[in-house]
Amino acid sequence: MEFDFVIVGGGSAGSTMAARLSEDPNVTVCLLEAGGRGTSILLRAPVGAVLALPGYGKLFNWAFKTVPQPGLNGRRGYQPRGRALGGSSAINAMLYAVSYTHLTLPTIYSV
Ligand SMILES: Cc1cc2nc3c(=O)[nH]c(=O)nc-3n(C[C@H](O)[C@H](O)[C@H](O)COP(=O)(O)OP(=O)(O)OC[C@H]3O[C@@H](n4cnc5c(N)ncnc54)[C@H](O)[C@@H]3O)c2cc1C
Repeated sequence: MEFDFVIVGGGSAGSTMAARLSEDPNVTVCLLEAGGRGTSILLRAPVGAVLALPGYGKLFNWAFKTVPQPGLNGRRGYQPRGRALGGSSAINAMLYAVSYTHLTLPTIYSV
């Protein structure tokens, strides 16, 4: 098979790029994802974020370890990364920051 674009990784960036490129009916796009389809209830329910905690295995999570860190007395850091369509946004905490500095808080939340 041949495609105009091959995107490796169906995470936040890859999925967005694939969606935007696919808006052009004249190009073909292949999105490759190493994990599953990302449709599990564990990912769709917000409580699924606990899967990113240390000790919850590698279900939907690459669960990387850093190299030994001199500043941590040689210990390795835990580095969760999503492994499913949606990538790390499939296991993240869904926190976001609003930066409407010119608005007051009551104005933002009354929209
Ligand atoms: C536990 C956790 C909590 C977070 N909480 C927040 C939050 O509350 N708010 C916020 O704004 N951000 C949060 N983030 C950060 C945010 O989710 C990430 O910055 C963002 O999703 C990264 O997007 P990305 O496209 O760069 O990578 P990812 O979304 O990680 O996508 C990479 C994709 O590539 C795939 N992949 C990797 N190697 C291969 C390969 N060889 N072949 C095929 N596919 C491959 C992976 O499986 C994955 O799906 C959190 C991240 C984590 C891990």
